[in-house]
Amino acid sequence: MKLFVIGSGGREHALVWKLAQSPHVTQMWCAPGNAGIAMERLAKTGAPVQCVSIGAEDLAGLVAFAREHRPDLTVVGPDNPLALGVVDLFNQNGLRIWGPTKRAAQFEASKVFAQQFMERYGIPTARAGVFSEPEPASRFAAELGGRCAVKADGLALGKGVFVCRNMAEADEAIQRMLVRKEFGQASARIVIQELLDGIEVSLHALCDGKTATLFPTSQDHKPAFDGDKGPNTGGMGTYSPTPFMSDSELAAADRAIIVPWLRGCAVEGIHFCGLLYPGIMLTRTGPKVLEFNVRFGDPETQVYLPRLENDLVELLDASVRGALERIQLRWSQQAAVCVIMASAGYPGKYEKGKPIFGLAEVAKMQNVKVFHAGTARAGDAIVTNGGRVLGVTAIGKDLSAARETAYAAVERIRFEGAFYRRDIGAKALGATRSFSGFATAS
Ligand code: AMP
Repeated sequence: MKLFVIGSGGREHALVWKLAQSPHVTQMWCAPGNAGIAMERLAKTGAPVQCVSIGAEDLAGLVAFAREHRPDLTVVGPDNPLALGVVDLFNQNGLRIWGPTKRAAQFEASKVFAQQFMERYGIPTARAGVFSEPEPASRFAAELGGRCAVKADGLALGKGVFVCRNMAEADEAIQRMLVRKEFGQASARIVIQELLDGIEVSLHALCDGKTATLFPTSQDHKPAFDGDKGPNTGGMGTYSPTPFMSDSELAAADRAIIVPWLRGCAVEGIHFCGLLYPGIMLTRTGPKVLEFNVRFGDPETQVYLPRLENDLVELLDASVRGALERIQLRWSQQAAVCVIMASAGYPGKYEKGKPIFGLAEVAKMQNVKVFHAGTARAGDAIVTNGGRVLGVTAIGKDLSAARETAYAAVERIRFEGAFYRRDIGAKALGATRSFSGFATAS
């Protein structure tokens, strides 16, 4: 099979790495890819994965490439091409592609759509309102005592959510979105949710339009610095599984969230082929959905795929064919931890082009895989080329062992200005039972 992967981050490196292990794959391209992706080789032929310099949002370029090279399956990593309709365009051109259509991608591309859908189908979520005028928005925020999350409707590069703890902050967020229109059309409408307290976890479900199969749990770390301090980022590290959610609680979340979501999709004629990733808060009254994403998480993918025992090509192929019902996902009992190494200044301004040292040494370590995110090749050197640079991932018999190995690898890698969190998975260490508030929920 010939595969074409779209994207260039750590998630896409993890996807390429796992797909390349499949004996079905005879050729693989990635657009645009990164330095780590370009070093991957196919298990079957030993041939390298070929990176092609087409941007992930250059839909015309992507479809032209696919028409010429005829991949048997295209796999979409990031959300933007999905929201732009890359799946619809490939389908119109008779090209097989894995991922949701533009309509189905609205679960992520429109927070208003997602919120109203959850309310229509009784999916547990925060109390919320939708607004396009500042006065009613402010009145609703006041009803919540100013403790609310103010969210731009559309995609805003992950920056369109303000978590507010008082009325001054809420009014400032409302002004920025609805009056100063800092996010343009993306904040023409906003969602205001009550602020939920609890523990945040990530769910992933592989879907084929009829069936949605949940992965084990994982937990991301969004703030930039240790102790959840500093600005929000795309994610500074993950681990899987998380002890904060037991198997029976995961099954309960399946019944409360995934089953009504599937029913709603059926009622509304939304064919969802792809990955549904609900961000949820485990609250004292049960799990509640904060948002839906419609693609693999980054960096969640980096801890899921090393634990996945199935052939990923077979899974994605079954997802496109609508044949997931017959497939059982198999997961290693081992734990996985991914620590992100980032450039100084991230998530704000940062410099690029810093040489990275130590990768060859770490490549010899057992149970470690370094997924590249923002990297590029400069002659013989690999240099930084983004805010999140590397996802240093390790597996181990338990979380503690996986953490130890991941950090031992991180300490061997150097580049100017590198920073990383030292507490990825730390809260889960020693947490032997699930979140008790959730356990007692009816
Ligand atoms: P979102 O993109 O909607 O997931 O929001 C980004 C981040 O803001 C989440 O990962 C949460 O940490 C936080 N957040 C969003 N909505 C809420 C909420 N209703 N209550 C508490 N925190 C929230």
